[in-house]
Amino acid sequence: MRLLVVEDDEDLNRQLVTALNQAGYVVDTAFDGEEGHFLGDTEPYDAVILDIGLPRMDGLRVLEQWRADGHKTPVLLLTARDRWSDKVAGIDAGADDYVAKPFHMEEVLARVRALLRRAAGHASSEIECGPIRLDTKASRVTVDGNPIKLTSHEYRLLAYLMHHQNRVVSRTELIEHLYDQDFDRDSNTVEVFIGRLRKKLAVDAIETVRGLGYRVSPPVGS
Ligand code: CA
Repeated sequence: MRLLVVEDDEDLNRQLVTALNQAGYVVDTAFDGEEGHFLGDTEPYDAVILDIGLPRMDGLRVLEQWRADGHKTPVLLLTARDRWSDKVAGIDAGADDYVAKPFHMEEVLARVRALLRRAAGHASSEIECGPIRLDTKASRVTVDGNPIKLTSHEYRLLAYLMHHQNRVVSRTELIEHLYDQDFDRDSNTVEVFIGRLRKKLAVDAIETVRGLGYRVSPPVGS
């Protein structure tokens, strides 16, 4: 999953990026509202963490413009204080959730997980696909109750496909959402990881749709 962090406080920005990277997300950053608005407008993020008080363009205005332009990316607002007027204004502007500063990083991570699940139509922290179970809280995968050991790359790939199960996900979409901008798009990395995942899962859940991409769906008969 690829996220955007828009926060002008450099220390806080760095802390957020570090925690999100450790949780397995690819993260882009912006330090002012204009840059943040531009990135959110042009790059396909799975979620955005947006501070309200930003130089050059206020966080609420950034959000209003994205929504006016039809961008539905889930947005977690960072409000400066526990001020109710900020929360109301944020929700009116189209925020999906908010966290008041100062916050515990664990809370931000939990809210981001919830936003990503809800955006994909899943209400609980566990996503199922036939015998495959993805625990988004613990980043663990089981098949028929047996734990499967995955590398972080393999986990991220499976998590993205399971969040979007029963629909074809193109190779380009996977690369855009799972890798940094300097990823070599011509490499066959995605194919290699898909091959490894299939072997480790040992159930027929990842289908190659020729010329279009991959689709995860419950194996027939499960
Ligand atoms: Ca700020």
